[in-house]
This record gives sequence, structure tokens and C-alpha cells, in this order.
Amino acid sequence: MVKIGLEISAILENVAQISTIGDEFRWYVKLKCTSCGEVSSAWQYLSLDESTETKGGRGSASMVQKCRMCGRENHVDIIKEHLSSYTSESDGTFSKIAGFECRGMEPVEFDFRSGWVVSSACSKATFNDADFSESEWYEYDENANQSVGVTELKYRFVKL
Ligand SMILES: [Zn+2]
Repeated sequence: MVKIGLEISAILENVAQISTIGDEFRWYVKLKCTSCGEVSSAWQYLSLDESTETKGGRGSASMVQKCRMCGRENHVDIIKEHLSSYTSESDGTFSKIAGFECRGMEPVEFDFRSGWVVSSACSKATFNDADFSESEWYEYDENANQSVGVTELKYRFVKL
């Protein structure tokens, strides 16, 4: 069993924090089978509100699937305790926002997509369902008459 962390980096303009809310947030990843090296060609998502029983019914995981190349049953599970917000203190540097428990397959690519919650640093305004698919995002905080933005979004996976 390997634990993999997802770290992101972003430049925040008048933004206090970026977070995900609720169990339905979808983490879009491409997964690599660690037995044979096959990487899934399609994006798949991991979400806390979906889980599948593992073989033999010994437990469950966010995703259970057989590798289409070698036939092994692999699992990935979201580690709830590792879910975290990205705050202005991390501005421009990598910080962990999620962790995954991996058995037989590991995430190797991440797609930000949408569903993020951005909190303004200038007022109590929050912007729901922010779309980060272009690796940048801009809005206007009308309470504070300030533009808010998230740019230079990057990610990396690290072993925990
Ligand atoms: Zn395989």
C-alpha cells in the first residue's frame, strides 16, 4: 500500500483560499497500474460519495478496477484526513490538498476541472463551482470592488 499526496501550486490574487466542499467533489485522474505500467487513457474520477466493495468484501475503496492489461484488481481510496484547502500562505508554492491510499495503481495525472470554492481575501465573498480547467480563473468581488484571480495552477504527486 502506497500513500500518494496531491500538491497544488497557484498564484492567488486577492484570494484567501481555494477549497473543495462536500463529498461529491470529483478528483479527475489518470491511473497507472504499478504491476504492468499501463496508464488509463481516459480520465476517471475519485469521489468520497462513491465507493465500491473490494474483492472478497474485506472493505471498500473510492475506486476498484481490474487493469485491462494484466487483469489485477487495483484500488485507490481518498484519505479524508488529508483533504485540505490551499491558502494564501502557500501562494506560489506547492501545498498538499489531498491524499490517496493506493493498492496496485497510482494517480499519475490530475485534471483540475471545476467544482472549486474560492474565498475572497477582501470580503466574505465566496465563489462556488469555480472552473479551473484553463489553469487560471478570474472573478470580481463586488463587496470589495476588487478583482480576484487564481493563475498558474500546477500540480504534482508526491509519496507520503
Ligand atoms: Zn496492469
